[in-house]
Amino acid sequence: MESDRSEPLLPSGLNPQLQPTMATLSDRLPLNIAGRFFVDSSCIDCDQCRVEAPEFFARDGDSGTSYVMKQPVTPEEIAAVESAAANCATGSIGDENAG
Ligand code: SF4
Repeated sequence: MESDRSEPLLPSGLNPQLQPTMATLSDRLPLNIAGRFFVDSSCIDCDQCRVEAPEFFARDGDSGTSYVMKQPVTPEEIAAVESAAANCATGSIGDENAG
């Protein structure tokens, strides 16, 4: 049976408007500590990353955004930050090492 959809689906079958975005290096917030992970200006201050990985993310009350306060070092720490990035609904957490 054929679908009557006029818009093609992405290979994943997901609506393109629901696809996560990627953090933009040029929008990296200045409060982020130097290093590979960063939060960009698209952060909506939802608190998710700070709850999930409080050792690495903090809130800036002036801008109402999160920022990376500590870069992960060990594989376990890196996995924690990568998980927080994957769970950020706005895709505001970036990794300069990501391809
Ligand atoms: S999870 Fe994403 S949008 Fe939410 S506070 Fe953290 S960086 Fe901002």
